[in-house]
Amino acid sequence: MLIDGFGRKHDYLRVSVTERCNFRCQYCMPEKPFSWVPKENLLSYEDLFKFISASIDEGIKKVRITGGEPLLREGLDVFIKMIFDYKNDIDLALTTNGFLLPKVAQELKNAGLKRINISLDSMNPATAAKIAQKDVLGTVLAGIQAADDAGLKIKINCVPIKGINDIDVIDVLDFCKEKGYVIRFIEFMENHHAKDGAKGLNSDEIKALVSKKYPNFKAVPRDNSSPAQYYELEDGYQFGIIEPHKDDFCAACNRIRLTAEGFLIPCLYFEDAMSIKDAIQKNNVDEAVAILKKVLAGKPEKNKWSVKDDNEVSSRAFYQTGG
Ligand code: SAM
Ligand code: SF4
Repeated sequence: MLIDGFGRKHDYLRVSVTERCNFRCQYCMPEKPFSWVPKENLLSYEDLFKFISASIDEGIKKVRITGGEPLLREGLDVFIKMIFDYKNDIDLALTTNGFLLPKVAQELKNAGLKRINISLDSMNPATAAKIAQKDVLGTVLAGIQAADDAGLKIKINCVPIKGINDIDVIDVLDFCKEKGYVIRFIEFMENHHAKDGAKGLNSDEIKALVSKKYPNFKAVPRDNSSPAQYYELEDGYQFGIIEPHKDDFCAACNRIRLTAEGFLIPCLYFEDAMSIKDAIQKNNVDEAVAILKKVLAGKPEKNKWSVKDDNEVSSRAFYQTGG
């Protein structure tokens, strides 16, 4: 079992397979980075799999593939199948912007993928284009439908940004409600790479917007296995808000992140990271597991997004850590 220095059990590994992306979301990668990590610096699927399978042996029960845009990396279905074939009851999930899904949703499902989180920031084509800096909405909606048709369990992620898609909160919620998808609104986490001046809505502001159409919703008792606080509308539909600016967000943290270059990151907020790359490339899986345990032992108790200390906040981008 993987336990950190504060007694938190860790059973959730997020694996980024690329930092590259076909969108330029204002809150994440508003401009193409000066240079991408050269492909040869990325861990191969075989090396990522060596680490993932060892982590599963140590108690990891949920693996989420993310990026950048994970569907940009070729052969993702084969990689998913490697994990599925190792342990088919692993909760195997993917986070994607959905743009490439229309062609590959069924292949991913056939490979063993169970769940998919898709980013959807607006139901208005012009607003979606303003955020992603590309005309994306029609294709993303087709991607969501393809995932649904393939039988994948769908969750939608939406990051409300002031003055851009704040007016779309109800429309995105209603779309998900109609389709029966879970929606989680994510509070924007300030970072050096987001567009200058981008300001997110906090959970109170999101709730105030929802209450304009649905005045009587109530908080659902917190499920510690989820980063979201859920709220229930009168008709029973539940929506979630991920509130990293609140202290209680971290108390039940069960996740550890691996970047495409092989860095293990204990907390998104802080700079701390250790590389497993050398160990895994030398086939020294025991050493990689020892590094994992060391990273967990030093994992901070909580993030500091509520105070945002520029001396401590990580210089890494969300497209590198996988969000
Ligand atoms: N490209 C995929 C996507 O957009 O879903 C996966 C990678 S993306 C980094 C993972 C998640 O991080 C997405 O749901 C995205 O909305 C979220 N995200 C990115 N930057 C963020 C920020 N500054 N604050 C909050 N969430 C952010
Ligand atoms: Fe790309 Fe996802 Fe970041 Fe948007 S949030 S730029 S889709 S990695």
